Amino acid sequence: MIASIGVIGGGQLGRMIALDAKRMGYHVVTLDPQEHSPSGQVSDEQIVARYDDTEAIERLGTATDVVTYEFENIDISSVEYLEERGFRVHPSSAVLRITQDRLLEKRFVRDCGIETAEFAEVISAADLESAEREIGFPAVLKTARGGYDGKGQWRVGDAKAARAALDEAREARLIYERMIPFERELSVVATRDAADTIVTYPAVENVHDAGILAMTLAPARVDAEVSERAQDIARTIGRRLGIVGTFCVELFLTREGRLLVNEIAPRPHNSGHYTIDVTQCSQYEQHVRAICGLPLAQPRLYSNAIMMNILGFGTGNHLDGVDRLLADPTIVLHMYGKRHAVARRKMGHFTMLVDGILTEEAIIRARQAHAKLQWINA
Ligand code: ADP
Ligand code: MG
Repeated sequence: MIASIGVIGGGQLGRMIALDAKRMGYHVVTLDPQEHSPSGQVSDEQIVARYDDTEAIERLGTATDVVTYEFENIDISSVEYLEERGFRVHPSSAVLRITQDRLLEKRFVRDCGIETAEFAEVISAADLESAEREIGFPAVLKTARGGYDGKGQWRVGDAKAARAALDEAREARLIYERMIPFERELSVVATRDAADTIVTYPAVENVHDAGILAMTLAPARVDAEVSERAQDIARTIGRRLGIVGTFCVELFLTREGRLLVNEIAPRPHNSGHYTIDVTQCSQYEQHVRAICGLPLAQPRLYSNAIMMNILGFGTGNHLDGVDRLLADPTIVLHMYGKRHAVARRKMGHFTMLVDGILTEEAIIRARQAHAKLQWINA
């Protein structure tokens, strides 16, 4: 019987896991170095400690019946530590090892017989030259580990820019990828349980701005066949990984209709926030169900939706314009309890419920709603 859940990481994803877990009656303990973290605020308890503090990890394991994590840049040794001591933890360290390293991840996807952008490992200047020869330009160089929201990435159009990126990366292991001129960016959120049941949400469409997610259209404006194929890819990846929990597969759809996997997130995903507002069981609840051994729910969408992230554009501590935003009854606002807006920091999001298909007009309406918001110092 599972009555309490430990979450490593106190960000917004942890917060949304905790909110659903609390609604379902669980006791929730968050571990995060930042006091009053977004997740800590809504948990029963927060252990304030670093993610690699083994004494704190041990306390988290002892205090709860199952431990999970809300982002992949935690120390693998923390997950291994829990496993070695017989604490229940999902997803496993084997899953984390692959998904926290872009090179291992892309090799794994290829081994599943699924396409990715052409890529090569780059550590030295000689590796870089051979990658340039084999893959060409334009390309994107990414640190194999530790990057998120477009951080640790360099888009390079020629050898000079690539060399500058290599120098800036200071001997980090890099992945060199061909830049894909995609038609659309898609993602599929899915959940797998320990009995190998997998449920998938429909493919959604993501619009990024300088490497960070700006907007998700749910469902994606693609043929049903493409969405099915994307969901198939997610199921294959979930099975081969043996993941228990919610995960997400990000994909590029090319003009010729090919689907290339960009990355795998071993946790709920920003592009699945909309599931809170328009399904009977959100990606967060599915995660809780999977790690607690409860049956998964076949997702039902009650409405189409557009999700827009509210980033820290400019700085400030007060979001002005919420009154104007909420004058529209189709909008649901979610804020993460972060005290200060910082450029590009994810502060909140809103979901706009949309009847019928997602037209250009609906997208413009969402953008106009977003434009009502502004950070100010109050
Ligand atoms: P993260 O989300 O971890 O920061 P991603 O690899 O998903 O890293 O990159 C962020 C975004 O940058 C992607 O969603 C996509 O818009 C763009 N991008 C990354 N790699 C490529 C690529 N090979 N070709 C085209 N666009 C890319
Ligand atoms: Mg990504």
